Amino acid sequence: MTVRADSLERFIAGVQTRNPGETEFHQAVQEVAASIIPYIQDKPQYQEMQILERMAEPDRTIIFRVCWEDDNGNIRVNRGYRVQFNNSIGPYKGGIRFHPTVTSSVLKFLGFEQTFKNSLTGLPMGGGKGGSDFNPKGKSNNEVMRFCQSFMTELHRHIGEDTDVPAGDIGVGAREIGYMFGQYKRLRNEFVGVLTGKGLEFGGSLIRTEATGYGTIYMLENMLQHAGNGMEGKRVAISGSGNVATYAAEKVRQLGGSVITMSDSSGFIYDPDGIDRHKLAYMVELKQVRRGRIKDYADEFGVEFHEGRPWNVACDIAVPCATQNEISSDEAKLLLSNGCMAVSEGANMPTELGGIKAFQEAGILFGPSKAANAGGVAVSGLEMSQNSSRISWEEDELQELLKNIMKKIHDNCADYGATSNGRVDYLAGANIAGFVKVADAMLAYGVV
Ligand code: NDP
Repeated sequence: MTVRADSLERFIAGVQTRNPGETEFHQAVQEVAASIIPYIQDKPQYQEMQILERMAEPDRTIIFRVCWEDDNGNIRVNRGYRVQFNNSIGPYKGGIRFHPTVTSSVLKFLGFEQTFKNSLTGLPMGGGKGGSDFNPKGKSNNEVMRFCQSFMTELHRHIGEDTDVPAGDIGVGAREIGYMFGQYKRLRNEFVGVLTGKGLEFGGSLIRTEATGYGTIYMLENMLQHAGNGMEGKRVAISGSGNVATYAAEKVRQLGGSVITMSDSSGFIYDPDGIDRHKLAYMVELKQVRRGRIKDYADEFGVEFHEGRPWNVACDIAVPCATQNEISSDEAKLLLSNGCMAVSEGANMPTELGGIKAFQEAGILFGPSKAANAGGVAVSGLEMSQNSSRISWEEDELQELLKNIMKKIHDNCADYGATSNGRVDYLAGANIAGFVKVADAMLAYGVV
């Protein structure tokens, strides 16, 4: 039996050749491959069956035109996508993003990451991701509705409760999920759990909205406890002010930490006294209801507003919750020099590869996104179970399930990521733990 001595460089060169110009996708694959290639060196079964090579190739990518009419009667054209990445352990599952920066590369990186993340939850879900370059900002409700209906008019052919179950992501919240579910139901004449993140009146699950942000902070709390530390009194810099950032901020406060920054795409606010319950309620009203700019918070409470990202603020913990590549190598070094001792990633791939290297070399606690933000998709998995069995669980029960799932994810990453010096490499742990389950399922299926 020959063991192919694969190298990271050769593997990545192949991925780059097959996916030219898709830099975000290359980055996501490189981050995973750097953990998996050493792990499979002495496991010929994975190498001979080309498991990693097959996992880096989506099952399929669907790309389609989305036409819609704006309020002035102009015809507008956007591009829609669904990347069905890997369904080895369950139906494709992953969010839909509406943002002008959406490209095939962004959705492939997200779908690839999602496959590992969903495996980590322990629930039967494969990985997928979708979206459009449509920008919901500044659009009326009717325009958003017409766009969502047009998007779903094509997408409905490719998804289904046992095939592919999308959810929300950047730019897709309860409003957009409602419009898309309504159109699916109308086209198919069936009421099934084909989307998660639905309203509570039509099959949604309690705590789905809160789950990603809460889960990110549970992961952080687990890492701190494992290292003999805790949240009490910690100054936490959060980026973003959307769904994930809001509930991460709430959970930090509940556990005794102090949130000193939040941001949006225009800049960040620095509130050294901490964003308390009352101020967070203002933030939610400003960003989720009025869909305004974060500077209004600074004006309302007399605190500083700055353009750019919050990573030059001295903090104990950083929780990036906005978007990919929002912590550069230099910003990671700045965080470290200002005393940051832990990072928990609420957003997907928010830290550049050089930034991750800096955190790891410094030996701080680093909770990678595929583990730290898995709470959202975990509760989506629970929403799917509730929909299939036509029941709804109580809030207490779901809170407990979320906490337990995050604890199991932490422990699983800690087991696979244990190092000889006693430090836990959570990144390697998450990548390997996520890989093994999917890889073993693929081995069982043979060459498909
Ligand atoms: P939202 O649309 O609710 O919020 C996004 C926030 O990030 C907003 O404050 C937005 O600012 C800011 N933002 C978006 N893009 C940029 C950018 N290019 N530069 C600076 N700021 C930006 O999205 P979510 O909270 O749902 O998602 C945030 C992150 O979490 C994403 O990486 C997503 O993939 C990830 N995630 C989300 C999950 C979920 O359940 N929703 C699950 C797992 C991961 P502005 O208001 O100005 O647009």
